[in-house]
Amino acid sequence: MAHTLAPLPYAYDALEPHIDTLTMQIHHDKHHQAYVDNLNKALAGTDGENKSLEELMAGISAYPAAVRNNGGGHYNHSLFWEILGAPGTQPSGDLLAAINETFGSLDALIEKMSTAGATRFGSGWSWLLVSGGKLAVCSTPNQDNPLMDIAEVKGTPILGIDVWEHAYYLKYQNKRPDYLKAIWNVINWDVVAARYKAAL
Ligand code: MN
Repeated sequence: MAHTLAPLPYAYDALEPHIDTLTMQIHHDKHHQAYVDNLNKALAGTDGENKSLEELMAGISAYPAAVRNNGGGHYNHSLFWEILGAPGTQPSGDLLAAINETFGSLDALIEKMSTAGATRFGSGWSWLLVSGGKLAVCSTPNQDNPLMDIAEVKGTPILGIDVWEHAYYLKYQNKRPDYLKAIWNVINWDVVAARYKAAL
C-alpha cells in the first residue's frame, strides 16, 4: 500500500511566533510530501511495498539509499508534527521522573538535546529515545533515525527535533541555536509522554 501524507494536526500558524507559518506550509506540504512521493517511487514493484514504515526502518540496510533517505524522511516528519503543538505543555509523572533520573532535570535534558542538534554538522536530527528501557539522547545525520538497523544509537524515538536548514532558515537564517531555543516553547509533552509509555 502506498504511503500517504497525513494533514498537519493543527493550523499552520499554531506554532507562531516560534515556528513561522510559511516554514510550516513549505515544510509539511512540500518537503514532507516529497519524501512520501519519492518513497513510494523507490518502493514501487519491490517487496518493500508491503512493509510498514517501522519494518522498513528495522531492515533499512537491505534497501537502496532512496528508501533510507525518503523512508526516514517520512517517519521522522510524521513524528515531528505529532510532538509539536500549542499551547505548550510540561512533562509530568513517569516521564518527568525518568528525565530527572537520567539527566538530572528537564533543563539538563533540553541542554543536551540542543547541543546534540547544534553540533550535528550539516543536516540531521536530535533525538530523545528509549534505549534498553532507559531514556537517551543522540543525533543522526540526514534522515536517519534510531529505529534504523544502521543507527549508532538504537531505540524508539519519542521526541525528535529537525535541524535541517529547511526547518528554520526563513525565520532564523544561520542561527540554528536560536531555533533550538525557541522550539521548546511548542513541544507537546503529552504526546511525548504517551510515546514514552508505549515504548517501554
Ligand atoms: Mn524537515
